[in-house]
Amino acid sequence: MCMEKTDWEKCVDFHGHSCPGLAIGYRVSLAALDNLDEMRSGDEELVAIVENDACSVDAVMFLTGCTFGKGNFIYRDHGKQVYIFGSRNSNKALRLAVKDKVSEAQEGLDWEARINTILEMPENDLLEIKEIDMELPPRASLYNSVKCAECGETVMEARARVKEGKIVCIPCACK
Ligand SMILES: [Zn+2]
Ligand SMILES: [Zn+2]
Repeated sequence: MCMEKTDWEKCVDFHGHSCPGLAIGYRVSLAALDNLDEMRSGDEELVAIVENDACSVDAVMFLTGCTFGKGNFIYRDHGKQVYIFGSRNSNKALRLAVKDKVSEAQEGLDWEARINTILEMPENDLLEIKEIDMELPPRASLYNSVKCAECGETVMEARARVKEGKIVCIPCACK
């Protein structure tokens, strides 16, 4: 019999292993989509800002459809378990912070038990969810391309530099 994989199993496949961090990202993403009344973002109607680069953010990318390549996944290097989601459809933004008691709840447990604890915890114990005012970043724009006068490779116009009167790419400009 062929069983459809659960969203959690698909997250584990995407991330490469099952871990407590991924479980946090899974819960954060579902809570955000639920509270924002959003579906997975096919285009750029949803924006995610993550304040860490741990395992959890893979679940965020996978479940919300906010990805680095689409420009609607923004990383802020704050080292905090904080996740912000904004919707262009509803103009609503939410800040989700993982509560301290989540690490306390995992104390003394083995790996599997930690994961299950996070997956099964009531949302109120797990997350502090606040609606916030947020200016959503502009949609990704398509830039013209220019050719670097030194290496000959194509570079986005907005990233090109001028060096001794010639248009060059950043690596060539820094040489
Ligand atoms: Zn992991
Ligand atoms: Zn170049």
